[in-house]
Amino acid sequence: MTSSYLQQASQHSLIMVAMSTDRPNEALRWLKERLATISDVNTARNALNWDRQTYMPEGGVAGRAEQLATLSRLVHEMLVSREAAELMAALENPEPGSKDFAFVRLARREYERSAKLPNRLVEELARATALAQPAWEQARARSDWASFEPHLGKILLLQRESAECLGYEDHPYDALLDFYEPGAKKARLQEMFDELKAKLVPLIREISALSDGKCSRPLYGSFDEKKQEEFVRKVVSDFGYDWKRGRLDRVVHPFCISLGGPGDVRITTRFDSDHLSPGLFGTFHEAGHAMYEQGIDPAYSRSPLSGGTSMGVHESQSRLWENLVGRSRMFWSFYYPSLRETFPEALGDADLETFYRAINEVKPSEIRVEADELTYNLHILLRFELEISLIEEDLAVAELPAAWNAKMEEYLGVTPEDETNGVLQDVHWAAGLFGYFPTYTIGNVLAAQLFEEALKAHPEIPEEMGHGEFGTLRGWLWENIHRHGSRYDPDELIEMATGRPLETASYLRYLKNKFGELYGLSSE
Ligand code: ZN
Repeated sequence: MTSSYLQQASQHSLIMVAMSTDRPNEALRWLKERLATISDVNTARNALNWDRQTYMPEGGVAGRAEQLATLSRLVHEMLVSREAAELMAALENPEPGSKDFAFVRLARREYERSAKLPNRLVEELARATALAQPAWEQARARSDWASFEPHLGKILLLQRESAECLGYEDHPYDALLDFYEPGAKKARLQEMFDELKAKLVPLIREISALSDGKCSRPLYGSFDEKKQEEFVRKVVSDFGYDWKRGRLDRVVHPFCISLGGPGDVRITTRFDSDHLSPGLFGTFHEAGHAMYEQGIDPAYSRSPLSGGTSMGVHESQSRLWENLVGRSRMFWSFYYPSLRETFPEALGDADLETFYRAINEVKPSEIRVEADELTYNLHILLRFELEISLIEEDLAVAELPAAWNAKMEEYLGVTPEDETNGVLQDVHWAAGLFGYFPTYTIGNVLAAQLFEEALKAHPEIPEEMGHGEFGTLRGWLWENIHRHGSRYDPDELIEMATGRPLETASYLRYLKNKFGELYGLSSE
């Protein structure tokens, strides 16, 4: 507390000196310093978070919650302080297209967004979600919706209030989306989901009628966790993940986190000794996120230009490596022999084709995180539609479990056996993340669009994947996506990289080709 007060006081007087000069660039220089300080506090918060989820002993829980809350409050205070307001007012617009122009645009957006949310609301949301998450854990363990319902009701009220404070043109959901996907609109997402639903629902029905649901058997058996780890470490090294600027640790819920610019980007994963998929595809996924962060121009560090530009663009990178590379035949034509040698007992009977079919089995199921590429987006569509109904007050929180089950039946032909496997399966709503789910589907759609474009520029990419070489693909992604950090908003970046806005055509083409061939469907 003391150091923060002194820091603010001394900065304030320095800023006043700066303001009294006639050099408007001084305001920009001061703002950069201030935001660098805020970025350092955020990085410290990330380090504490990483530790909390990896190595912290159980006794640290309460103390760590206080430390994290304090750092969050400090960041918000620094962002909306009078000094920051004065700096913003004194700023002149830099030359359009310049790095400084992007810096000022992002700084203003961050400031304006923070300033619109009253401190009271920020605190209430922090408290409500801090209480809701352990309540959700217990409710999920006991399949006890009723005990979680009042928490979600409270969070929903605060989300609606946040949307009103932030403001929107067409729909309150747009205000919430903007946190995760700047520029995204509910109306445009609705169109995207309608296109996906129209094509995917009949395709999944056709495949389900043909499938015996037993293809994935080779993935279940006995798989030594140490050997799994050695294998995925080799693969993500080949992808191009840089170990001098990263590390891999084990956790319950895997994530990727940057501890200050591209110089320290860590991944986490989990291994299941009875099931091969989580360790393999989870690690490929996180490495995709991490290579994005490692590729960002180091000059953007400690500024709003650092980090990925949106959750959807971030997810496009993880999905690209997990699915378009990691679930492809070319990839496994190179890696499967060594995987089979690693696990001769479990995989001895499965040849390459059997394994390829196992990792790409289409099987409608109740759990999102276990869903295949084809059914995954219907899980997201369901959550997107329910979130909108909740925000519009079309649906009461009490009616949510029934609405969930009805949509599961309609889209996937599955009825969850209980609330644990239904409405209570994800942490997102307990964490206050309304508007986050659609970014998963944006990521899937964008991954296919980017991959198609990379292949147009470099038709040799699949051939290289068949030799365990990924430099050309990673180079294309670095050139077109990674190095830019947050400098461009998603729409602009996608247009620059692919020559067109985000659209479902490439993705639907990819799914139809891949699964049509796998299940022997006739192509019209
Ligand atoms: Zn991800």
